[in-house]
Amino acid sequence: MKIAILGAGAMGSFFGGLLAESGQTVTLIDVNDAHLQAIREHGLRLETGMGDRRISSLETCRPEQVTAQPDLLLVFTKTLHTATALEGIADIIGPDTLVLTLQNGLGNVETVARFVPEDRIVVGMTTWPADLAGTAHVRSHGFGIIRIMAADGQERSGVAGIAEALSKAGLRCTVDQTVWQAIWEKVAFNAALNGICAVTGCTVDQLGAVPAGFALASAVVDEVIAVARAEGVEADADHCRETVAHAIAQHVGHKPSMLQDVLAGRTTEIGAINGAVAERAGKHGIAVPCTEMLLGLVRLIEARMKADRQPTS
Ligand code: NAD
Repeated sequence: MKIAILGAGAMGSFFGGLLAESGQTVTLIDVNDAHLQAIREHGLRLETGMGDRRISSLETCRPEQVTAQPDLLLVFTKTLHTATALEGIADIIGPDTLVLTLQNGLGNVETVARFVPEDRIVVGMTTWPADLAGTAHVRSHGFGIIRIMAADGQERSGVAGIAEALSKAGLRCTVDQTVWQAIWEKVAFNAALNGICAVTGCTVDQLGAVPAGFALASAVVDEVIAVARAEGVEADADHCRETVAHAIAQHVGHKPSMLQDVLAGRTTEIGAINGAVAERAGKHGIAVPCTEMLLGLVRLIEARMKADRQPTS
């Protein structure tokens, strides 16, 4: 399978490294020249439970340099960059290219569908974590899973082929028609923990310091799951709350990506998470005050960071 990965940051490099290691032909496409050049010169340093090694078989290029049409295009930009990134490589999406999004948040299929017919979009959810430990150096720990399905709900052999390739790379992927439940439950988890940590600066475990931490997370989970159910998705609030409690107890020192973005002065994915939930809640007439409060606060932080970046005259 010829695989191209659009957005070769933490997740794109991790997936790309494992897929290349399993024998697939993988091209990483990114706009981060230093990262791409270091991979070309020294290979990608991949640190996982399977060891610390360098992968030297990865092709790398900027969007404007890509020419070959991939069988599979895996989108791993942050959600706010998806449309621009797809615009940059629209020419290489061939009639047989399948496009897989495992990005967090809601609205990813709709964005990809602006560039590819829905019958060639594959949507999924992954619990694999990855961090960029440095230029051309990616780290992941523990184990995760991937669940995918065709975005139009049909059973397609191409989707099974993708699952097989990902599993062969050790990424444990299954085809599962209940993907939307998993996506919404992860959105609930992220809307609560990412939002609260981004606003407070707390690591995940620090949310357990006072009862209000879990209570607020729990209220956000309830709101998001109510919206999921109104959308016809059988998401489970109790299961989500257990996952949140487990993360608070176990993820000592972990800074969720939204907190990392705030600390680095970057725009966050709050729009695709709390923002998308609030928008859908509005359509169903459901009140989501805690979700909206976190959305507003993170938007304020982003606006303040933007103002801080302006040169003073
Ligand atoms: P990241 O910021 O590490 O990587 C994104 C990459 O996209 C960067 O290398 C950036 O340079 C690149 N990019 C930006 N604009 C581009 C463009 N126009 N063309 C090509 N490349 C472009 O982000 P990440 O942590 O890898 O997350 C990617 C997605 O996966 C997000 O939606 C995130 O929520 C989701 N996710 C992340 C994790 C995790 O543990 N990191 C886990 C599950 C899901």
